[in-house]
Amino acid sequence: MRFSFILLGAGIGNRFNSNIPKQYHKIAGKTLIDISINKIKEFKDIKKIVFVYNNKHKKYLKRIKLKNIKLVAGGNTRNESTYNALKYLIKTKNIDRVLIHDAARPNFSKKLIKNILLSSKKNKTIIPILKVKDALKEIKIKKIISLKKNNFFTTQTPQCFNLNEIFNLHKKEKKNYIDDDFSLVEKSKNIKLINGEIKNFKITDQEDLNLLKDIYKSNMKLGIGFDVHRLVPGRKLYLGGVKIPSNLGTLGHSDGDPILHAIIDAILGACRMGDIGEKFSDKNKKYKNIDSSKLIKEIINKIRRKNYMINNIDVNIITEYPKLKKFKKKIIDNVASLCDVSSSEINVKAKTTEKLGVIGQEKAIATEVILSVIKYD
Ligand code: ZN
Repeated sequence: MRFSFILLGAGIGNRFNSNIPKQYHKIAGKTLIDISINKIKEFKDIKKIVFVYNNKHKKYLKRIKLKNIKLVAGGNTRNESTYNALKYLIKTKNIDRVLIHDAARPNFSKKLIKNILLSSKKNKTIIPILKVKDALKEIKIKKIISLKKNNFFTTQTPQCFNLNEIFNLHKKEKKNYIDDDFSLVEKSKNIKLINGEIKNFKITDQEDLNLLKDIYKSNMKLGIGFDVHRLVPGRKLYLGGVKIPSNLGTLGHSDGDPILHAIIDAILGACRMGDIGEKFSDKNKKYKNIDSSKLIKEIINKIRRKNYMINNIDVNIITEYPKLKKFKKKIIDNVASLCDVSSSEINVKAKTTEKLGVIGQEKAIATEVILSVIKYD
């Protein structure tokens, strides 16, 4: 079975009182759009991801890097937006199923996606639902009626459909307003209702966004890293993956980048995954003079598979030589791109030791890093 995934992000969000559209708000340096997409990219059976954007949001869209994602312009309604994405997918070869999801629900678990993909082996339509827990009332003209809550449930997204079926239904219903895509399919056969997740709530206002931030904060972990290298003539100096013009460079088995090494240790510490020496032994010839950017990318991929993302990074560089003020921005931007964090979440400070000790004598360079990671599943 080959799946596709539509992420609907064209909504204006009238109830969300902010200049920035809610789907472009950031938590842990990631927009709500990134958070959903990062999780979905982990599923190999999902062959195509489509993001539906609003033409009015182009300046926000430009700021986020969506790699290997098809961008489709949305319509005036949720319904039209979905149809635009389906029109693209129906022309794509070998796609059987489509998951349709609202970008305002970034906090689904990967377990929920696994359940949906698994259930679709036996069923055409899979809908995550929540039972109603509170007492349910209906307002009629001049009176209120109590309803039996056990007869009701609410639906969430992602909802999974047969691509041809949902495309044809959307084609017919284009003009009518619907709250979810399930409304079009509910009379058809082969529907499986599965348990949704309370934490997969829809963000409609600031209060919801704050609640999501609190959930993320409660999953935050800190890590610390330290590194020191001898400074010697005839070696190159790399800091945060940036080559710094210098008469002295770092001695090391790898390229000796003390910022990236301390960041790797801090990440491993925060994620409870050991230390850099265990992961990349200095006895292994494979790592001789290796570009540390490659090492950190490997670690970032590892933690991503464990559902961690980096929240912020603070770096101290302790050295007498060279002066680093003019390289700080370049270092920050490069670390941001290597670690998949926005530059605004990174800080770099350069310190000396007032000419004291080996660092003061320009014989060594040291770094300290503290960072936080968030587990989103
Ligand atoms: Zn090192």
